[in-house]
Amino acid sequence: MPECILFWHRRDLRIEDSVGLHTARLHTPKVIGVFCFDPQILNRDDMAPVRVYYLRECLADLQQQYEQAGSELLILWADPIQAIPRLAQALQAGVYWHQDVEPYGRQRDQGVNQALNEQGIVQRQFWDQLLHAPAEIATKVGQPYTVFTPFWKNWSQQDKVAPYPKLENCTKLTEIERQVVQNAGAIPLPSLKELGFDWPGQWDYQPGAEGANNLLAEFGRSAIYSYQEQRNFPAILGTSRLSAALKFGVIGIRSLWQFTQDCLQNFPGNESVIVWQQELAWREFYQHGMYHFPRLATHSHRAQFDDFAWENNQAYFQAWCAGETGYPIVDAAMRQLNQTGWMHNRCRMIVASFLTKDLLIDWRWGERYFMQNLIDGDLSANNGGWQWSASVGMDPRPLRIFNPNTQATKFDPEAEYIYTWVPELRSVDVPQILSNQITPLERQALGYPEPIVNHQKQQQLFKQKYQLIPRAG
Ligand code: FAD
Repeated sequence: MPECILFWHRRDLRIEDSVGLHTARLHTPKVIGVFCFDPQILNRDDMAPVRVYYLRECLADLQQQYEQAGSELLILWADPIQAIPRLAQALQAGVYWHQDVEPYGRQRDQGVNQALNEQGIVQRQFWDQLLHAPAEIATKVGQPYTVFTPFWKNWSQQDKVAPYPKLENCTKLTEIERQVVQNAGAIPLPSLKELGFDWPGQWDYQPGAEGANNLLAEFGRSAIYSYQEQRNFPAILGTSRLSAALKFGVIGIRSLWQFTQDCLQNFPGNESVIVWQQELAWREFYQHGMYHFPRLATHSHRAQFDDFAWENNQAYFQAWCAGETGYPIVDAAMRQLNQTGWMHNRCRMIVASFLTKDLLIDWRWGERYFMQNLIDGDLSANNGGWQWSASVGMDPRPLRIFNPNTQATKFDPEAEYIYTWVPELRSVDVPQILSNQITPLERQALGYPEPIVNHQKQQQLFKQKYQLIPRAG
């Protein structure tokens, strides 16, 4: 076993509740973190500046955490397949990391794995971002689940591992080794600008472990106990807003599970806590799906939908992106996304239904736009959400077509959310907004567009096209 272990961070930007770091520390006090900015990821055209901002700030926080543990986090900016083995070779270190479910990540990891093997470098991988690894949850005949309810039944009954202790009492690099790592490509943490991004906005909670833990504590003080009733109302802070922290692993999944157990001890059998646990299970359901069916990344789970006759009208798409469709709830949601990098889950479902079933635009266009703008943009969750909304994915029934006005009436009954994000409608009465019965003259005076399509007509059109798909049901 080498004296030094490099722990390669990817979507696990913390030193607490980390199976790989904990195991590394059991072997040696010389555990050094490394994060590699991968040009292939940074240069993708679906990178959201807000997500890179959050990532960069979390790395700055992680560097401090390493300092406190007596160690350090090294930064690279290069192809990991070359850079990670080069650094390990230079330090004569072993390399540990956590496994990924995404097709690109798995292919990259295989490349690193092979390069390390060729150089005889010790390496180990662990499952960390999930409470249950993909192989642990299967049907009676050993197949992956494609429907959520049986997945949840199985998943929720499995024993869960307790959180791992925080990394501490490590040994730093020597001065000579510091020179060695610089020669092997280690650099200071680049600024957002140096990385080629700009995010003028702020994120409404502090990036990094402390920010995420504060948010969790706040959620635990009350919102989690009314989650079941309040989670669908976008004007209420009724959900945890931990999605970006979960995407980057700033908080450990076992710690979150432990948190739900503590909540259940305070309020035994509380339904809201269980509903929130189900959201964590949806996250795993989609990650397992991505792992087992990598083609999901580019294709509909229900393959026959790859031939669906989407109309893909560019002007409609631009109006949807800009929040200028003339449907207040849709526009409010898109503007929330554009201005903050986040959107409430109910609204994600509304705008995704609208794009696919009212505008008849391919779900992949919406998926990509979300990735280009979401702070929590995550291939598995985003792809799962889009395929579900377009009725082309796993767990597809019944065919759901959201009426935007009904959704607004149910979930934004005082139009608070709409007033916040579509300020030009603030002088319009609530019933008028919710039914979207604003006259052309009023719209013109307010500078608010006419509805770009007629919902009733479009849903008929969608259904006709849907029925043409073999065995679509
Ligand atoms: P909470 O309600 O507090 O839920 C807790 C956590 O559970 C979330 O942080 C998230 O990690 C997970 N979760 C909740 N709902 C889902 C779900 N339906 N699918 C998967 N995980 C879930 N979530 C992302 O993290 N990244 C995405 O890119 C993403 N894209 C989406 C696209 C569409 C079209 C839809 C319908 C949903 C998408 N979601 C995505 C799921 C969900 O909208 C967000 O996870 C949620 O709104 C985040 O807010 P929260 O942290 O307050 O969630």
